[in-house]
Amino acid sequence: MPLSVHPCQFVIALSTISLCAIAGAQPTGPDAPPSQPVQAESIALPDGYPTADQVRQQLYQAARKNPDLCQAFDLTELYKTPPTHDGRHLYALRISAGTASDQDKPAVLLVAAHHGDEIASVLTALTGINILIAGYGTDPAISRLLDTREVWIAPLWNPDGYTNGTRTNARKNDNDTIGVDLNRNYPFGFAQCGGSDVVGSLTYQGPAPASEPETQTMLAFARDKRFVIVHDAHAGAFDLRTGYGCDRVHPWREHMNRQAAQIIEATHLKLSQGSSCCLAGNIHTHMATSLTYAFLWELGDKKPPAEKACEQARNIWDGIVVNMAQPISFSGHTTDASTGKPILAAITLPSAGFTMNESGATRGIAARFDLILPPGTHTVRFSAQGYESTSIDVTITPDKTEVREIRLTPIRKNAPALANPN
Ligand SMILES: [Zn+2]
Repeated sequence: MPLSVHPCQFVIALSTISLCAIAGAQPTGPDAPPSQPVQAESIALPDGYPTADQVRQQLYQAARKNPDLCQAFDLTELYKTPPTHDGRHLYALRISAGTASDQDKPAVLLVAAHHGDEIASVLTALTGINILIAGYGTDPAISRLLDTREVWIAPLWNPDGYTNGTRTNARKNDNDTIGVDLNRNYPFGFAQCGGSDVVGSLTYQGPAPASEPETQTMLAFARDKRFVIVHDAHAGAFDLRTGYGCDRVHPWREHMNRQAAQIIEATHLKLSQGSSCCLAGNIHTHMATSLTYAFLWELGDKKPPAEKACEQARNIWDGIVVNMAQPISFSGHTTDASTGKPILAAITLPSAGFTMNESGATRGIAARFDLILPPGTHTVRFSAQGYESTSIDVTITPDKTEVREIRLTPIRKNAPALANPN
């Protein structure tokens, strides 16, 4: 991928910090991002790695410098979810051509550092921001991606762990240990596989599903955006994983695996390919609640030199761009058949072989849906309260988008009374 700047340049240059405006909120001073209640300094970040606060500021600086392409969001504020245990908020940058708050485009996500000590993933995310901004208008694939998708990047999902140098977050457990493994705390498959109920262990799943503020914020984010593709960046091994772990087989596993192979090929790296280890992780919840195609990256060393992480990120993003830009196989909107008004609806695939109540939904102002479906014929059911459920068959062929506008018929509340019922 052609780049006129060193991939780390953006990250390092932004460490000098220039403040900027927040989308959807009033700045408290010229170009000021929202203030943070806790500002503990990172204890042991290697050279070239920004602090949690600097990561936040980099997002707002990218938005300020590229107002037609980037918007930064305080997701904790947006969704009114609790701050982290150390009082931080969670942030994301939307990169997409246009400034409308709802662009009626498929939404895709890269999120990094659910595990706070896997810090290479943060630089991978930040470098991706640089690559996408630099590539818009110069690289045809990136230009097409940003013209047709909302790309969301959340570079630091566990800012407390990142600051404290821990895998887990900063929950103070009852037995005086610290931390919950955020990637074992999601509701889908909670306590079923991969998480530990040993309080204080490195894979401690937490006291209850979605007990953690970070998990709650991601669930709200997922419900709002219904991401069609999610990339979840970790480090510690060197592979790309998808599907469910344990004994649960995702019915679209083969198709997801084919996509994973294509992603790896596009990176030109010697990544292995595998299945997810677990349940109750971030990717599983997106798959189960939005029918998302989700991939978990293990990026190698957890704490490589910053320049090495940024260099590798270029290759990683070659794969991610290809994957995020793929034709979305099935898209459309759900509307009231009488009025044409957008109506949010649940989406299920009764014949797909899902066994754990997996479903998706339409989203946004326009009640949009986007699904990647394996090639073949699928029955898709749309349901909304007060409307008759509608099922349609859709035949998916590779590299083509099926667009259907689904018109939902209101249930008649007052059926006409029979004349002379006696
Ligand atoms: Zn991890």
